Amino acid sequence: MNEYAVNLGSYPAYIYDLPGLDAHAAEIRAALPNTELFYAAKANPDAEILRTLAPHVDGIEVSSGGELSHVRATLPDTRMAFGGPGKTTEELALAHHLNVDRIHVESPRELSRLPGPTSVLLRANLPLRTPNAALTMSGPFGMDEPTLNDCARHIAEAPHIELRGIHVHLASGLDAPAMLDLATQIRDWALSWLEAHGVSDPELNIGGGMAVDYAEPDTRFDWQTYGQGLPATPPLRIEPGRALTAYHGWYVTDVLDVKTTHGDTYVILRGGTHHLRTPVTKGHDHPFKALTASGPEERATLVGQLCTPKDVFARDVLVPRLSPGDVIAFTMAGAYAWNISHHDFLMHPKPTFHYLR
Ligand SMILES: *Cc1c(COP(=O)(O)O)cnc(C)c1O
Repeated sequence: MNEYAVNLGSYPAYIYDLPGLDAHAAEIRAALPNTELFYAAKANPDAEILRTLAPHVDGIEVSSGGELSHVRATLPDTRMAFGGPGKTTEELALAHHLNVDRIHVESPRELSRLPGPTSVLLRANLPLRTPNAALTMSGPFGMDEPTLNDCARHIAEAPHIELRGIHVHLASGLDAPAMLDLATQIRDWALSWLEAHGVSDPELNIGGGMAVDYAEPDTRFDWQTYGQGLPATPPLRIEPGRALTAYHGWYVTDVLDVKTTHGDTYVILRGGTHHLRTPVTKGHDHPFKALTASGPEERATLVGQLCTPKDVFARDVLVPRLSPGDVIAFTMAGAYAWNISHHDFLMHPKPTFHYLR
């Protein structure tokens, strides 16, 4: 990757390491013998990424009509689950038309608008313990127990809707022991609720949110421990995004200018957080490698070309002395990076995309 990035010569660029992603996904798959693995497309819906993951996953979780059409066109035979709040009538019709396997229902109103025969999981919003989560998905997502009971009553009178189980995505950024604790809490609640509502062979989708530590890139989610700890019955389904694809994308760019203002050194890079918004949304210093410079390190702030003080990749971090033309690679840019960024702000050129094969 280093050599490829330095020889590119044209920046900024995204580079995706497809063989690395393939091996990573195979390892995760092998660690989860009793569990169905779906990929949450919103982490990175790049078609090459989807095709690389396809042999290792049981399906794709999508959250919009756009993702639905894109995933169906990219992977015609894959199973899909359609989640997310505020699904439109058009999106629900599209899901029906494109043979989505499961709709994750977010509200009674959505349930009443489902067209044709549909198999659903009801998304539950449960008041469970999630200490240390980076994000908790409460608020508008899913339904509390009284509302789920309303849905069950509605389904009992709607022959075209089949209640298959429960979907839960409660938090992100949890390590394996915390995820297992959460899975146990969800399973205990969901199995008894589903039994009370006459669902045989219940399905439980317990969501994604497996931790990715940008401060310690080598500390990975412990899939082995997680896979061994998950109960085998009923088989659970998970839908991680970030922990699958974050590690196999790089945003590579070069130094345009270096200057010291009021004693602080700024390294100005081609491009900016309109291409890699991750450090702004996460509020972190994005991990990077200086590919062409070495030697004694000094403190500097890495910024982009945008005319806003928020365009910061990493603040007051140690870097080797950099000059114009030096190449920097931001690592861990394979998830929630390009596809969440505000590309058109300031109308700078877009990055090019490259795939290691
Ligand atoms: C975003 C999302 C995921 C994936 O979360 P990650 O943190 O990327 O693993 C899974 N399920 C639902 C419902 C989501 O909204």
